[in-house]
Amino acid sequence: MAMKKIAIGGISTECSSYSPHYQKESDFVSLQGQELLDLVGFPFHDYEIKACPVFFNKSLPGGPIEARYFEQIKARFVVELETLGHLDGLLLLMHGAMYVDDIDDPEGEWIELARKVVGEDCIISLSYDLHGQLTDKIVGNIDAFAAFRTAPHIDINRTYHRAAQMLSDMLSGGQRMNVAWCPVPVLVSGEMSSTLAEPCRSIYAQLDEFDKSDGIVDCNLLVGYVWADTARATAAAVVTCTSKESGSMVCSQIAKLYWQSRHQLAFDMESGDIDSAMARLPQRFSIIADSGDNPTAGGVGDRADVLEAILRHGIGRALFAGIASESVYRELKKSREFVIGNGFGGGGPELRCLAKSVYFRNQCAIVSLQNVTLVVSKYRRPFHQLSDFTDLQINLDDYRLLVVKSGYLAPELQSLSAPSFMVLSDGAVNQDLRALTNNHRNRPSYPFQDLDEFAPKPSFGSKNYS
Ligand SMILES: [Zn+2]
Repeated sequence: MAMKKIAIGGISTECSSYSPHYQKESDFVSLQGQELLDLVGFPFHDYEIKACPVFFNKSLPGGPIEARYFEQIKARFVVELETLGHLDGLLLLMHGAMYVDDIDDPEGEWIELARKVVGEDCIISLSYDLHGQLTDKIVGNIDAFAAFRTAPHIDINRTYHRAAQMLSDMLSGGQRMNVAWCPVPVLVSGEMSSTLAEPCRSIYAQLDEFDKSDGIVDCNLLVGYVWADTARATAAAVVTCTSKESGSMVCSQIAKLYWQSRHQLAFDMESGDIDSAMARLPQRFSIIADSGDNPTAGGVGDRADVLEAILRHGIGRALFAGIASESVYRELKKSREFVIGNGFGGGGPELRCLAKSVYFRNQCAIVSLQNVTLVVSKYRRPFHQLSDFTDLQINLDDYRLLVVKSGYLAPELQSLSAPSFMVLSDGAVNQDLRALTNNHRNRPSYPFQDLDEFAPKPSFGSKNYS
């Protein structure tokens, strides 16, 4: 059998349409060559498949992508695909929550163009984040689909593997697959749909069982991305199948399961406003998640609302990690006086501070203020790994309170088993969903509007290009 040839690549980010911080080329890192092959880590050689890495561009979630960069990078992807010549397969790695002004379906445009280049006979398998959005255009142009089944995401590599396995099976003589999808009129935050908590824990566990049905290959539930005010924003059931009939049926079942559980979708942590967080602070080490400004969901990461409350309440032995401000980072190299907050245009208070001492490490200024240690990062970034603190020579044992910009806690912070509280703060990823500007989302959609009935209508997408 002749060696088959596939390409691998894509683009991944989450874009809050409520964020003033536009993403441009410098916000993305590009994985290419062997690094990209290693990321996917699939033994294509065993299937007599030669995998050609294109590029996989990835950024920390943020605001909308600048239209110019989006058009540029999409065109580059197409050119690189064309350069590879005939392709038997394409493995696309996408997140599914890009937002570009005046473009309704950025992933759809990307995938449709890719299909145009590789032709109808090429097998396209798509790997996705469960916080992504689908459309008929996307589904109509792919042959297989696999999305994460855990949030927080601990199965990213397994998902790449599932998408690569379906592609390899089809290229090794297996039946060509179809993708069925069914929008579900529910749209909540990741914090309300963690797979560590009910109802999603049980629903996602059932996907493995659905996979075993005849004619079914890979079952998925997309929660969607709530902080983009777009018509395509919705949850969805998605099933890769060899039998269209079974695919439609299982897709409807998954959609109904999620719909019927919608009233149980709730935060997996104790939560409330900033003052209730201060009032409930335990004496022993605890963690506050400043959720409205969480950069890993698209928040700007520069707001000082919670820091203001900590200073006002005189909370001691607190570590605030961190607030992003390139100008303050530079200022602190010269002076102990600085104004923190709103450094990247994310809003909130601007606090005049005087540092008792400061040192610099890893593009961060670690500042002592009264009894608070504040980390000022030069760039937008999260502090969700334990190594983020040790790298700054910070020992968490020295503190009573850790404040991070986060929604649900990342697995390493959860492993500390500390009491935790999610502050429902203002910002580009505000958890008060009903307060979000809502001009473009489909109506009705829970929890934005109330509706009683839902009849699943699975489809196999549509192709509409010349
Ligand atoms: Zn996600």
